[in-house]
Amino acid sequence: QESEESFDFEADTSRILDIFINSLYSHKEIFLRELISNASDALDKVKYKSLKDPEYMGDQDKMDIRIEFDKDAKTISFTDTGIGMTKADLIKSLGTIASSGTTTFLEAMGKTEDMNLIGQFGVGFYSSYLVANKVTVTSKNNDDPHQHIWKSAADGKFAVNQDPRGNTLKRGTKITLHLKADAVEFCDQEKLMELVKKYSLFINYPIYLYTSKEVTKQVEIEDEDLIGDDEYDDEDTETDEITDDIEVTEEEDDDEDDEDDEDADNKKTITETIWEWELVNDKKAIWLRSKNEVTEEEYFDLYKGIAKDSEDPLAYTHFSAEGDVDFKSVLFIPPGKGGDMFESYYGKSSSLKLYVKRVLINDEFEDLMPRYLSFIRGVVDSDSFPLNVAREELQQSKLLKVVSKKLVRKALDMMRMMAEEEEEDDDETEEDYDDDEDDEEIEDVEEDVEDTTEDDEGETEQEESDYEVFWKAFGKNIKLGVIEDATNRSKLAKLLRFYTTSSQDELSSLDEYISRCPSDQDAIYYMPGDSVEAILKSPLLKKFNKHGIEVLMLNDPIDEFTMQHLSEYKGKKMKSIAKEDGNAFLSGADQKKRNNVIKDMYKPLTDWWKKHLGKRVEKVAISTRLVDEPAYVFTSQYGYSAHMEKVNRAQAF
Ligand code: ADP
Ligand code: MG
Repeated sequence: QESEESFDFEADTSRILDIFINSLYSHKEIFLRELISNASDALDKVKYKSLKDPEYMGDQDKMDIRIEFDKDAKTISFTDTGIGMTKADLIKSLGTIASSGTTTFLEAMGKTEDMNLIGQFGVGFYSSYLVANKVTVTSKNNDDPHQHIWKSAADGKFAVNQDPRGNTLKRGTKITLHLKADAVEFCDQEKLMELVKKYSLFINYPIYLYTSKEVTKQVEIEDEDLIGDDEYDDEDTETDEITDDIEVTEEEDDDEDDEDDEDADNKKTITETIWEWELVNDKKAIWLRSKNEVTEEEYFDLYKGIAKDSEDPLAYTHFSAEGDVDFKSVLFIPPGKGGDMFESYYGKSSSLKLYVKRVLINDEFEDLMPRYLSFIRGVVDSDSFPLNVAREELQQSKLLKVVSKKLVRKALDMMRMMAEEEEEDDDETEEDYDDDEDDEEIEDVEEDVEDTTEDDEGETEQEESDYEVFWKAFGKNIKLGVIEDATNRSKLAKLLRFYTTSSQDELSSLDEYISRCPSDQDAIYYMPGDSVEAILKSPLLKKFNKHGIEVLMLNDPIDEFTMQHLSEYKGKKMKSIAKEDGNAFLSGADQKKRNNVIKDMYKPLTDWWKKHLGKRVEKVAISTRLVDEPAYVFTSQYGYSAHMEKVNRAQAF
């Protein structure tokens, strides 16, 4: 028996612990998520190992997670029959910050003081210290002949010693949290049940909570002394049943009409507390169940579990594919959380969990989604790959490409549905007022209705629709998709939204633009600029406004690149009015003739300009686009626009 060894935490670990202990009160419950997911990871590793080595399971062939609490001792314990940790593992895994999630968390913490961020990170084992002032980890791994105990009170050091009780676990890990005074609320059966349920939806192993229940029974007795424990066995008891706390109360029977009256003398009501392991999660993962068996709440909880988010997703889709490749999947669009999520989502690897035959192969598999869809979260479970497939093989697999294609299509469908729902809502509102009246009258009715709404609900601002929230958060990704994904370009184009000169406060789709423009207009006009205000001030717009031609206002640096890649939509060319020939509304043979006359008339002037400006301009031409201004500097239709050059110079992306 070796003696206890003491170690110091490395600096970063101490910092994490400090943050946890001192600042993160509002996110205490995530320790459950982290400890359950660690247990699940450990079980995955055993499952994976035993695929290659059938002997690996040994005489510990149970695969489960068990959670128990002790109100008097103020402890909660998590026991898994996973891979366990050797002595060296305990020192390394629990003494240093190995977890990538934690490293990312620390980096983010350096940049912001926003503690609310914590919920989004996999912060791992140390989140135990959100609720515990002392943690004991007992663990046994096949590669270590001995079971060891790791413990720390988060005071800068931890200790490891061989377990004097021997190898009680056979294989696996038991983590015991000694709760802080302000966290004893977690030592509560209902609370634990609710939280464990929430965090275990995507866990593919049975999770049991040791629960008690009061059972009241009337028993016939001849002699009080004869009451024995074994008489009151409960049938649905899973395992390890312990019966204690038997209370015996004399039945007081006041009811005269009671049929049992005559037996009252030899019956007693006893209340006993039965402890049993209660299964918390459904044994079948959500994505394997049929759609109509899963509630929206369960999908939302699944999202929260895999995305480590505390908010509900904007949308989800659940489907299975059969044919060349069989798989089941649930995909989610994260909540937009107000504002531009582009920075945090783009470039970050996609968090699709990839399972092969129910075994987790990869937690964040990147090759299933193109970069622009990396904000999508979800699970993919396929029977079509061999279980022991190497990552590289998988990446090159043709089947994987088939899966990916289907996932992208489903993800885009999910967005389209969200957009269509919004349209339907709008349509409904219109229908309400659409009673064969002429236009003017309808306008009046609309105003009336709006007024009433304001009065009734005291609301002046309309709530954002899901699609608006989505567009704000992920619109940039869609624009990038148009640039990068030629195959799905037209689908993506349907999702685009812009402000236009006719719709300055409400975003318009390209379809809406087309529905408003005259049928013989063969182009979709756009004007790039820094902001809607700046664009509206542009002299180039005047002529278009004068002719009542609607122009898209592109105020995002990426918009122009998107339009160039799109090049046309439903047969209409995308045309920048900031470029040479953007004045197509004046087309027609007559116009052409007239233009030629003017061109000849002003030739001496344009020649003079060209001579004096020389190489600084490509050419000097007569423009039909200006209304009040005498001259304007344009870029050619195929060149970089002034705005694009500015963007490039600023290296916006
Ligand atoms: P992460 O899970 O992201 O790796 P954690 O801080 O949650 O980070 O855990 C750190 C490491 O500790 C894990 O990678 C794993 O090696 C080890 N570990 C934690 N809990 C368990 C467990 N229940 N069984 C086996 N190993 C564990
Ligand atoms: Mg972890």
